[in-house]
Amino acid sequence: MDFSFTKKEEEFRQELRTWLEENLPEGWIEGTSKLPTDEGEYAKFLRNWQRKLYDGGWAAIAWPEKYGGRKASLMEEIIYHQEMVRVKAPPLVNYVGIHMVGPTLIQIGTEEQQEKFIQKILTGEEVWCQGYSEPNAGSDVAAIQTTAVKDGDRWIINGQKVWTSFGHIADRCFLVARTNRFEKKHHGITVFLLDMNQPGVETRPIIQMDGQHDFNEVYLNDAVAYDAEIIGKVDEGWHVIIALLMHERTGIGAQVFTLEQQFNELAALAKDLKEDGEPLISKPLIRKSMVDLYTRFRGSLLNYYRNLTKTIKTGRPGAEGSMDKLMVSELTKELLSQSISIQGHQGILWKEDAVSGNSYWQDNYLYSFGQTIGGGTSEIQKNTIAERILGLPKDMGR
Ligand SMILES: Cc1cc2nc3c(=O)[nH]c(=O)nc-3n(C[C@H](O)[C@H](O)[C@H](O)COP(=O)(O)OP(=O)(O)OC[C@H]3O[C@@H](n4cnc5c(N)ncnc54)[C@H](O)[C@@H]3O)c2cc1C
Repeated sequence: MDFSFTKKEEEFRQELRTWLEENLPEGWIEGTSKLPTDEGEYAKFLRNWQRKLYDGGWAAIAWPEKYGGRKASLMEEIIYHQEMVRVKAPPLVNYVGIHMVGPTLIQIGTEEQQEKFIQKILTGEEVWCQGYSEPNAGSDVAAIQTTAVKDGDRWIINGQKVWTSFGHIADRCFLVARTNRFEKKHHGITVFLLDMNQPGVETRPIIQMDGQHDFNEVYLNDAVAYDAEIIGKVDEGWHVIIALLMHERTGIGAQVFTLEQQFNELAALAKDLKEDGEPLISKPLIRKSMVDLYTRFRGSLLNYYRNLTKTIKTGRPGAEGSMDKLMVSELTKELLSQSISIQGHQGILWKEDAVSGNSYWQDNYLYSFGQTIGGGTSEIQKNTIAERILGLPKDMGR
């Protein structure tokens, strides 16, 4: 593969740069504008940002034009990620919609469903969440106990979901429920496009160790979904579940560009911090571990390019997304752990007392533990790689 950018690709980069300069929230590039801390304001701010991305044609560039994308090339996608990370653009409030539900709807949804949901996903009018995990079903999604029972053209849903990211602001949920108890474990499951704004749905916050509120418990008490809100076939939702997971893992793989940015920031930190008057970066042990991290980062990046090429050629992501997800999340955790340890005793300082003046490293470090769990744990990614890429025998536990 040729990694140099053509004139046309550089023009694409410039177009995006100009758009970002003109459209990022005021003071964003200078660092004087921040995400609101109030939950309602935070959601409003991010919905506005997503609307701007949509209006500018930057909400989901890889999607086909028919669905509101630009059918961006592989190189354009890479440029897009690089530029968004470079300016530390605000996060996507509808991450689940853009990277997971939308591509699955395009792949499997009916025309009516695509018409009803896709545009609102792009504009941020309808924020989505993913209702897979339950108190007794995480890695083993097929163990779900939430039930949906047919009642005319409606389905009555009862059960509990947990770790539902964005559940507190979501309008719709990509919800997995058991519709037939008598089928084998991976059958008898159906996926619903559930309306969250109804009396039968209650969300309760789960506060993380960094004090943030990203995920929730979701209680379903006689919640209602309609036949038209089923994606795929009744009782045969397993392949729909897997299709969304593949898109999820590929999306997470793109965090390799955030990793690159964090590596550069770590190098800058190691130059700033001093021991006996010497910058830490001049110490052999620090240099060695930086080189080690960088080598593995480059490996992940090249692997990501290879997998993205395959996804674009085949039109759908494969099990290789598990490699990207595993490598990026584990390396991120390691890099952030190193960022704390090189700060010595100052590593435990918080907010304005921290070395960065805003606990940037501490926040990211605490968040990184969840990254090796969300979207499937590292052990589960290893099982997928073993079985589906290396062709090894199936995990006996499942
Ligand atoms: C930041 C974050 C965001 C999340 N967002 C969502 C969301 O939006 N929607 C949603 O549905 N869920 C979400 N989750 C939940 C996530 O998908 C689950 O936590 C994850 O799948 C693991 O499930 P579990 O917590 O039940 O752990 P378990 O499945 O009980 O696993 C416990 C331990 O056993 C190991 N293990 C389990 N099975 C095997 C096996 N077969 N082989 C080897 N080891 C195994 C696991 O690796 C883990 O170390 C999120 C989680 C996090 C951390």
